[in-house]
Amino acid sequence: MLFQVGGQGARPTFFEMSAAQQLPSSLRAALTYSLGVLALRRPFLHKILDYEDEFFALLLLVLETHSLRTTDASFAESLYGLRRRAVKIRVKKDSSPADMSDQIQHSGLEKRQKVLSVVFMVVLPYLKSKLHAIYNKEREATLQASLWGHGDDRYEYGENYDGEGSSLVSGRSLDRNAPIREHLMKRIQKIVGACYPWLHAGSEGVSFAYQLLYLLDATGFYSLALHALQIHVCRATAQELMDTSSRISRIRSHERERLRGPPWLKALQGALLSCTYTVLDYAQTGLIAAVFFFKVAKDGIPLPLDRKICPLCSQKRANPSVLTASGFVFCYACIFKYVSQYKRCPITLMPANVDHIRRLFHDI
Ligand SMILES: [Zn+2]
Repeated sequence: MLFQVGGQGARPTFFEMSAAQQLPSSLRAALTYSLGVLALRRPFLHKILDYEDEFFALLLLVLETHSLRTTDASFAESLYGLRRRAVKIRVKKDSSPADMSDQIQHSGLEKRQKVLSVVFMVVLPYLKSKLHAIYNKEREATLQASLWGHGDDRYEYGENYDGEGSSLVSGRSLDRNAPIREHLMKRIQKIVGACYPWLHAGSEGVSFAYQLLYLLDATGFYSLALHALQIHVCRATAQELMDTSSRISRIRSHERERLRGPPWLKALQGALLSCTYTVLDYAQTGLIAAVFFFKVAKDGIPLPLDRKICPLCSQKRANPSVLTASGFVFCYACIFKYVSQYKRCPITLMPANVDHIRRLFHDI
């Protein structure tokens, strides 16, 4: 058979690898969605959404580092029971895949490989998403320029620059370097705008090629990053799965032994370590479970397609009234009854009370 579909041998199937690779982006989409819904009720969460890339990169950094230290696999791979192994492949060109797996010499991951794995899994995707944002901005600016002309280029740019979060003061005060900096930033944006599509196409093309070759069993590496690091992803053996917990406790007791200082400081550090361990232990599965339960359990009632229909009784609104906490309109009787009982908006679940209800006398 040309390619392996069943789950035999140490080599994971294409579908396992693909699922493991997609997990972080699915998790990110689910987290962003959950935060978006939560932010409707708790506006301070918009701050996290403003720095979504950084927040998610930091989260992944913690998860991946922990996972590589304890299981020799990425966060997603360890959920699928896969492990990373350093390989030195001495393969004759004509050898069959069965021989190939015999000839692979397994050895533990070196520290360099673990660090670079984190770079490939967290830092590079983060940088790419930043480039993507700059590219989008540049494309918008080009579009605007083509629509409105280049006349107020400088003004537009100043606006963008302030919008980026840099201080207004430095932009407006007599900072002599500002025009140079603006010019430089603009040049960088232009360069990114010109190069990014090629970079993106190149990276997508290479990963597509690797995945196709992996599917056809022509290579043992699922991606260029794994090839560059000389790492094979394999199914964990039963022994490895059992060893994981003893390995974690070994690492932890070693860390506890390394604590220095007076007894109170040691106790404090020990307590902090215990907290960190508990959080890390539950972070992986807890995160996925929380997002799942949030999506299932915590949604408000859906909005009807017809705007004249009350979301609560699904009939034409009688005495339309707006709930000022969220801005949605219901029948007066329906929303009064709901808010007195549940103290929240039925759609966004934002906290509300009956003082937030306003009658509308000119309905649209
Ligand atoms: Zn109603």
